[in-house]
Amino acid sequence: MSTQYKPAIHFQHVDYRIGDLEILNDITGSFPQGRITTLVGPSGAGKSTLLKLCNGLISPANGEIFVKDKAIGEYDPVELRRMVGMALQSAPMISGTVYENLNLPLELQGQQLAKEQAVELLEDVGLKGDLLDRKVKELSGGQRQKVSIARTLVNKPEILLMDEITSSLDRASKLEVEELISKINRKYKTTIIWITHNLQQALEIGDYTWVMMDGQVVETGESSLLEDPQNGRVEEFVKGVVS
Ligand code: ADP
Ligand code: MG
Repeated sequence: MSTQYKPAIHFQHVDYRIGDLEILNDITGSFPQGRITTLVGPSGAGKSTLLKLCNGLISPANGEIFVKDKAIGEYDPVELRRMVGMALQSAPMISGTVYENLNLPLELQGQQLAKEQAVELLEDVGLKGDLLDRKVKELSGGQRQKVSIARTLVNKPEILLMDEITSSLDRASKLEVEELISKINRKYKTTIIWITHNLQQALEIGDYTWVMMDGQVVETGESSLLEDPQNGRVEEFVKGVVS
């Protein structure tokens, strides 16, 4: 599937274990640069684990991961974190203001985010600049998730990892965040790797899809594969027999 595109991230025979427990087994494949790839599969399939391998939060037991043709272990961890951003369903925040949260990635690097830049970031994710001094605890779920996405954009990441970021949002906010991620992908050519439970979302938003089960990748290709899976287990999953 990656013949047309350069891989942003490539997995080569990657295993991941916790103690004796095999969590991921022989993962090989690429996430094409500048495209949106969705990761789908039943709960416990290993999707979140695979995502954490992509930005070096955890390391493989065997195999190699390349980020833009360079082995992940050769990156300086700070450089890697800047290049590969991550947003989570829980949108973890420090207590305090929206600005303090947006400033966090730079503060950790001993720098400071200019207020004007912070306003731009908010506008980029469809929020008004006057939210800057608002306490995050006063935000709605949708606003909070948008602030969390804005925070991942501070470092202008080339790759964005999203773990079920719309799962706890209402329908309207879900659509807004989906549109936002598509916009980021188009505007900045950001490579997006997006875990979702929503197969319709995977079909509509994703260019490519990986289907994972029991720690393995069982089917990959253009997202339309979800309409006509080749693998019998994937077919059952898509029909809702397994979830
Ligand atoms: P998914 O995101 O697809 O639901 P995960 O990557 O979270 O799956 O988990 C894959 C498997 O690894 C699950 O069986 C889960 O219980 C197990 N697992 C994940 N993290 C840990 C951990 N820290 N300790 C023990 N088992 C874990
Ligand atoms: Mg998960």
